[in-house]
Amino acid sequence: MDIPRIFTVTESAHRIHNPITPEKLAVLGAALRLEPGTRVLDLGSGSGEMLCTWARDHGVVGTGIDLSPLFTEQAKRRAAELGVAGQVEFIHGDAAGYVSGEKVGVAACVGATWIAGGVAGTIALLARSLRPGGIILVGEPYWRQAPPTEEVARACLAGSRADFLALPELLASFGRLGYDVVEMVLADQDGWDRYEAAKWLTMRRWLEAHPGDEFAKEVRAQLTSEPARYAAYTREYLGWGVFALMPR
Ligand code: SAH
Repeated sequence: MDIPRIFTVTESAHRIHNPITPEKLAVLGAALRLEPGTRVLDLGSGSGEMLCTWARDHGVVGTGIDLSPLFTEQAKRRAAELGVAGQVEFIHGDAAGYVSGEKVGVAACVGATWIAGGVAGTIALLARSLRPGGIILVGEPYWRQAPPTEEVARACLAGSRADFLALPELLASFGRLGYDVVEMVLADQDGWDRYEAAKWLTMRRWLEAHPGDEFAKEVRAQLTSEPARYAAYTREYLGWGVFALMPR
């Protein structure tokens, strides 16, 4: 069970697999006013930076589930490094359909809403693990600028313009699902650079270390084309944020 190899090559050195920075992740943790002992569930936990740093900074406990063995291993190492291995647990597995045995105060899916077929399905899934008064966290892209054509949407690596909403519409859509938006922290273009540009050095170093790898052609093609594509499209058109929701 694993994710496509391109991600484990390009994002092997990332601690955060999203355009949110360590600083903004800390802002989000503080904004949620987390009490020590709060139980957090994180579906698609990646390399575990959110759970590990919030365990260190706010005394939360919890579980992360991720399909990537590499990222899950990195998350366990990060927990040990930050001295929170007794508070957080990382499970390698498919988070689709995952409901926690014990209800949680924070149920999160940050940048992996395909796990339950999109934003609405993911919110419904997370709600099944949530205790009364708890908070759902969803990390999701939105259109910072409306893409003028379907070609531009695809150049942002979206399937189509309909894949994402503008920020006001995304916020309103949470209301239609029956949720109050109670907080949000938005990424900015510098955060996008940390997520996307960090892949380029990783790819370059990977190519130097794996000259004969059958995957080298694909990685080389990406390293060649990605900086200009990213600057022209993703960086201009796509926003990204984490939205905190409570059922009405
Ligand atoms: N929330 C993390 C990771 C976001 S990237 C962070 O912000 O850093 C998306 C993550 O979803 C990747 O780590 C990927 O391995 C994971 N993923 C993809 N499909 C999944 C699935 N079906 N179940 C669990 N995790 C999945």
